[in-house]
Amino acid sequence: MSLAAVLIGLVAVLGLAIGSFLNVVVYRVPAGLSVIAPASSCPRCGRLIQGVDNIPILSWFLLRRRCRNCREPISARYPLVEAVTALLFLAVALRFGPRHAVSGAELAGEIAFLVALLYVMAVSVALALIDIDTHRLPNRIVLPLYPLLLVLLGVSSVFTGDWGALVRGLIGMVILGGTYLVLAVAVPRGMGLGDVKLAGALGLFLAYLGWGPLTVGAFAAFLLGGSFGIVLLLIRRARRGSGIPFGPWMLLGAWVGAFVGDPVWAAYLRLLGLV
Ligand SMILES: [Zn+2]
Repeated sequence: MSLAAVLIGLVAVLGLAIGSFLNVVVYRVPAGLSVIAPASSCPRCGRLIQGVDNIPILSWFLLRRRCRNCREPISARYPLVEAVTALLFLAVALRFGPRHAVSGAELAGEIAFLVALLYVMAVSVALALIDIDTHRLPNRIVLPLYPLLLVLLGVSSVFTGDWGALVRGLIGMVILGGTYLVLAVAVPRGMGLGDVKLAGALGLFLAYLGWGPLTVGAFAAFLLGGSFGIVLLLIRRARRGSGIPFGPWMLLGAWVGAFVGDPVWAAYLRLLGLV
């Protein structure tokens, strides 16, 4: 089997396991609880969920969607989050996985880069769900993005020799974080400080990829979030100023920028006759 095939398989299994962990994070972090201890238990009867009942997706079907002990229904959201995380991890690995490496050092750099992107994807899934549930972006999840991304992207640059990407990332961090800070001050009801802190980290991540991903990622957030807000107003599901969380749109926009930012930005510049 080729290295690529092994890596893809590993990423899919990793996605299932991380998705299972994200279910715990999404439930416990907003409540201020530890994500490590105690082990997961049924919220109704308190029975510990162990071994064969804790396999991502599969256990939910084997248990026929109910707690083994008290038959309390288990939400379909748990296996869904596991499946979606695995699929998103696969998409990231296929798009951003090692491809150009000709030396061991370059391969190490590309693997550090892939780990950085998988980490951002895991955080994206957790933050989007928590923001929808609680209208918050917890510091415990957002702030570690800065040191961990700097280390992972820094290691990637050490091995690939691409220091320009890291400098660009730091500039992107200041640009996007600064833009959201201005917005939060100008429209305090529209943006929160949680959005500002997340924007800086997304700016670092997107600008490391390139100016196209940064620009497209930033605008896609407002385009997608704005369209959704207008649709809600039109079907009268929301009143003006009723809080629609913006975090999920920032994250979705960022990933649109990461995946298609380069070609979209190039096409836009051609349209303007700039290249
Ligand atoms: Zn139970």
